[in-house]
Amino acid sequence: MRILLTEDDPALADLLLRACKQEGYSVDWVSDGVAADLALTSETYDALVLDLGLPRMDGLDVLRRLRKRGSHLPVMILTARDAIADRVAGLDSGADDYLPKPFAIVELQARLRALVRRHHGGTASACLDLGRLRYDTATRQVFLDGGEVELSSRERDVLSSLLHKAGKVVSKQALTSAISSWDATVGSNAVEVYIHRLRKKLEPAGIFIRTVRGLGYVIEPSDDHPA
Ligand code: CA
Repeated sequence: MRILLTEDDPALADLLLRACKQEGYSVDWVSDGVAADLALTSETYDALVLDLGLPRMDGLDVLRRLRKRGSHLPVMILTARDAIADRVAGLDSGADDYLPKPFAIVELQARLRALVRRHHGGTASACLDLGRLRYDTATRQVFLDGGEVELSSRERDVLSSLLHKAGKVVSKQALTSAISSWDATVGSNAVEVYIHRLRKKLEPAGIFIRTVRGLGYVIEPSDDHPA
């Protein structure tokens, strides 16, 4: 589960980050609307937590632009308790749920779980399949021929990013950002390390991560190992 958190109040953002991490989600945090819009167009997320009052681009505009691009990403907006007009505008603009500030962290966590569950229940399968590999986007479990594969959290981040664009090149920069979090930057060779580990675990089952020199990586099943 990868979440984009958009909140310009650093104290609240810190609280939200902790809450999401407690749930085992990987989280990217941005503090203005333009950065949110950019992240949403360049990265793949499972949910968006969106503050409405944001610098540079209003939260409602971020949401409208997202829906205009045809995205069905689950979106939860954060609004001031008395701002009923904001809530209505948010829901009208395509938000799936809203949470009035101030809120209890347990409520945020429960609402997020429900949001993601509803989303996966209401749309296509929550699993990404490639050859003999299956990745469950809700639980982040990885299976080869039905048997679960043990992967670290960051290996899952890298694999998830590759699988969301299976057969297409994913840039090293995108993979680096997938394994980075707000409080920890990763070393320049971190991506290579996780790719190496993933290859060791997946290649015996015919799942290959190909290096495309100067561009990035692409995951694909081998022709010798048909699905
Ligand atoms: Ca705000």
